[in-house]
Amino acid sequence: MVGDLALPCSEPSAIPHDVAAALVAAGQRMDRRGWVPATSGNLSARLTDDRMAITRSGVHKGFLATRDIIVVDFDGVSLTSGMKPSAETLLHCQLYRLWPDVGAVLHGHSVAATALTLALPEAEAIDFEGYEIVKAWSAFTTHEVRATLPVIDNDQDMHRLAGRIAPILEAGAAPIGYVLRGHGVYVWGTDVAAALHRLEALEFLLATDIERRKLA
Ligand SMILES: [Zn+2]
Repeated sequence: MVGDLALPCSEPSAIPHDVAAALVAAGQRMDRRGWVPATSGNLSARLTDDRMAITRSGVHKGFLATRDIIVVDFDGVSLTSGMKPSAETLLHCQLYRLWPDVGAVLHGHSVAATALTLALPEAEAIDFEGYEIVKAWSAFTTHEVRATLPVIDNDQDMHRLAGRIAPILEAGAAPIGYVLRGHGVYVWGTDVAAALHRLEALEFLLATDIERRKLA
């Protein structure tokens, strides 16, 4: 036994217990909020500079167990024998490869993200202005800002989709995450807790934007 590792460090499929437990708890919280219906969504955490722990394909996030967390390299190849990752793992790989300080990535399929982006079929972004909660992102220190959320058309071809997302990320144009139209959001942070904090803030922004449109 080495520290709190479930398996010895030398095992490429080893996942520290605290990382697996954090992903399980985040999945359960996302389920309680209704953000991961059916078996949708993916949650991951960086393990090293070339691999991550991520939820396996086809598991319901409300019933996650640590055995449902697998190790995948940054090419999207599973290092956990017999377990395969979701196709969307490539979008997680993209974020870890681009920024070394990304420690966790969360993706859900909320009603708010789905409804709002389908209701705005031409929108390439949604702007949020005047919201106190943007301070959930350290880049914002006041509500007197415009936080832009890129809206990207959904695609079942993950390589093509990643190719369309890349220039947006590289331009620094996704300060609070991004949303796939009719699908859901991607957010990230230095660890699972930070990413969950931002996911809650982003889902609040989306739900509030819908309420404002109803009142307008
Ligand atoms: Zn998805």
